[in-house]
Amino acid sequence: MKKKKRLVWQIFPAFFLIALASLAVAIWFATNALNFFFLKQTTLDLKDHIALLQNQIRPHFQDQQLPQIERICKEAGQLTDIRFTVILPDGRVVGDSRENPTHMDNHADRPEIRAAVAEGFGQSMRYSNTLDRNLLYVATAMRNGEHLLAVTRAALPVVFLDEQKKAIQWRMAGGGLVIALLVGVISLLATRKISRPIEELRIGADVFSSGNLEHKLAIPDTEELASLAEAMNKMAGQLDRRIKTVVDQRNELETVLANMHEGIVAINTHEAIISMNRAAADMFENDREKATGRSVQEVVRNIELQTFVRQALATDDEQEDDISLFRPSETILNIRSSPILDVRGQRIGTLLVMADVTKLRRLENMRRDFVANVSHEIKTPLTAIKGYVETLFNQEVDSKEDAERFLGIIIKHVNRLNAIVVDLLSLSRIERTGEDSSSALDFADTRLGDIIQTAVQVCQKQADEKNISIEQRGELDLKAHVDATLLEQAILNLLDNAIKFSDDGNMVAIDVERRNGATGIHITDHGCGIARNHLARLFERFYRVDKARSRQMGGTGLGLAIVKHIVQAHGGQVTVDSKLGRGSTFSVLLPS
Ligand code: ADP
Repeated sequence: MKKKKRLVWQIFPAFFLIALASLAVAIWFATNALNFFFLKQTTLDLKDHIALLQNQIRPHFQDQQLPQIERICKEAGQLTDIRFTVILPDGRVVGDSRENPTHMDNHADRPEIRAAVAEGFGQSMRYSNTLDRNLLYVATAMRNGEHLLAVTRAALPVVFLDEQKKAIQWRMAGGGLVIALLVGVISLLATRKISRPIEELRIGADVFSSGNLEHKLAIPDTEELASLAEAMNKMAGQLDRRIKTVVDQRNELETVLANMHEGIVAINTHEAIISMNRAAADMFENDREKATGRSVQEVVRNIELQTFVRQALATDDEQEDDISLFRPSETILNIRSSPILDVRGQRIGTLLVMADVTKLRRLENMRRDFVANVSHEIKTPLTAIKGYVETLFNQEVDSKEDAERFLGIIIKHVNRLNAIVVDLLSLSRIERTGEDSSSALDFADTRLGDIIQTAVQVCQKQADEKNISIEQRGELDLKAHVDATLLEQAILNLLDNAIKFSDDGNMVAIDVERRNGATGIHITDHGCGIARNHLARLFERFYRVDKARSRQMGGTGLGLAIVKHIVQAHGGQVTVDSKLGRGSTFSVLLPS
């Protein structure tokens, strides 16, 4: 790049040159005027000298005494540097202050002589061969009335004029130099006076460009620069306000995005991440800063997501899908995409909005399974009831005994249906306690022995039928802050199972203990026990280890689910410890 010159070095030389040129022109005019003045003055001088000489020689013309004229010329020439010559009208020289007139040429053709003869006065400046230098000649006619007596000429070497002129010219040059120096200094100061405020404005502009838009430029004295500085200050102020507004808006947006539960990711058309919020970074288990600028493939190693992004970029329509991430447990993300357009409407990428729907989808699945299970559980007894009722209705039964047997089966299935409905109602009631204050639990400090005693009484007949003894042990006097009815139902369900799955003559035990600040109620049987692989799902609704056996025993598959919900409503938990063929222990742990 061409090197930039400073303003002062652009203005100053021009100023200085103009000043020098004006000075030179002035000196040139002055010199010419001086020449003219000197020439005029010297001519007048010479004319005076000629007049004096004419006065002296005039009498000798009347006498025709030419030698006298010659002598006067010589004398006059000795007194000054002027050379005097007297020439007759025919051009003959009759007197000369330097030469012998007899040796001199005829002077009739000399321009000053011719002019003097014709007009009375002649003047010429030329080179003299005789004296070998430039001379100024002034000639005047000397008349006696109308009769021309002679022409008297005075000559002065121009050197004398030149010397005087030079002396003056030197002085003028000296003065000129002083003026030039003064002009130089003044023009330098003047240009600095112009350039300094401009330089200050430049420094101020640098401050603006470095980001300090609150800086204020000093207002220079010059009107134009003052308006410029004011305009720049105004511009910087407006820019500052606009930048602050943009920054505020960006911060607000950042805050909104940062606090959103949904993950937001902007992706360009090359599948690289432009930006994403904190929630998205958490979902991808990645660092926001590190992920920015990298491709989706690098950041998330998930084929489903990569395919979704590719499809979203390929279309201008909004897309939606559920994607599973494994990190290490499964997380289900619901992803919506919408195209990102620039101000000109050009596609520059796609925006992903991701919501963690893991819980929602699990709940939906559970609901779906639940509805399917309920339908299935209800369908079996209903089909049976329908079959037997139709048989009876069509009077296809021969004997009264068969009819009674069929009615007995119908009653059994109706009871079963009733049991399912009662259990489902219990479940929904317990579930609602968490959400609905009107059906909140009825907590009270209750002696656990009393609750257990009531439950045992309900089961006693069933136990007696199987000759099973129920033993109550431990700290039965312990009190707990519980909903007695619900806890009683939970213990009843566990006790019922323990009796159901125990062989005749076995013993079932209920232990109450307080350990580590928690109250534990353990129901132990020595029945069939449960295989390890069933334990994890045992408390799910309608889950049964042996469906046929459970149904046969009148089980609904909801008993343990009800227990779990009751215990959870008390802030506790239920666990199971079981060995196949050896028996099981179900423990209800309540916080104190
Ligand atoms: P059910 O109405 O079938 O008893 P539950 O929810 O009470 O339903 O129990 C679910 C399943 O757990 C039962 O079908 C049974 O297979 C198993 N189970 C529950 N308690 C015991 C136990 N004490 N001993 C062995 N298996 C049990």
